[in-house]
Amino acid sequence: MVVKIGVLAMQGNYQQHQSKLTELGVESVQVKYSTDLDDCDALIIPGGESTTISKLLTTNKLRKSIKDFAMNKPILGTCAGMIILSKSEPTRNMIPLEIMDYSVERNGWGRQVDSFVDNIVLEKQKTEFPATFIRAPKLTQFDTNLTVLATYKNEVVCVTDGKHIACSFHPEIGKNTDIHSLLINNIK
Ligand code: GLN
Repeated sequence: MVVKIGVLAMQGNYQQHQSKLTELGVESVQVKYSTDLDDCDALIIPGGESTTISKLLTTNKLRKSIKDFAMNKPILGTCAGMIILSKSEPTRNMIPLEIMDYSVERNGWGRQVDSFVDNIVLEKQKTEFPATFIRAPKLTQFDTNLTVLATYKNEVVCVTDGKHIACSFHPEIGKNTDIHSLLINNIK
């Protein structure tokens, strides 16, 4: 099966996600408008600035298309992407898509100067790798139907509902490819 993964290219780290996919031998396409989703098997919403991404989702009329896409196809949300996928209380500047059943506190892992890299363990896969946290969101509430994929200092930093995956950190930074491989595995 030839797989093509869309990477939301509004703002943020989308190019690094594309490089990771190339490394894994997967074709990728930048998603800016609804029609870009047409032949995608999965979507990545990258880290960046969730308020900017939220605004551009509205401007480019992508909200409904991504919600429809999510009914059948997997989405990976990383950092700001995790915020966008959440059911967090909307604010004036950030309206989440409410695709996954958890809430986050934006910048819960600290400000830009508090950015850090530390090892995390993917519990089921039993793999350990350095994860990069940059103004990362912290989970404040999540539904019990979600599976925890990784914790760090007793906080959940990666969850899945069996189809979509969300992580607080930046899996496109560094050598590890496990999170992207998990997304590819979720493609039917
Ligand atoms: N804290 C940022 C936000 O709220 C996300 C940071 C990131 O994606 N690295 O959008």
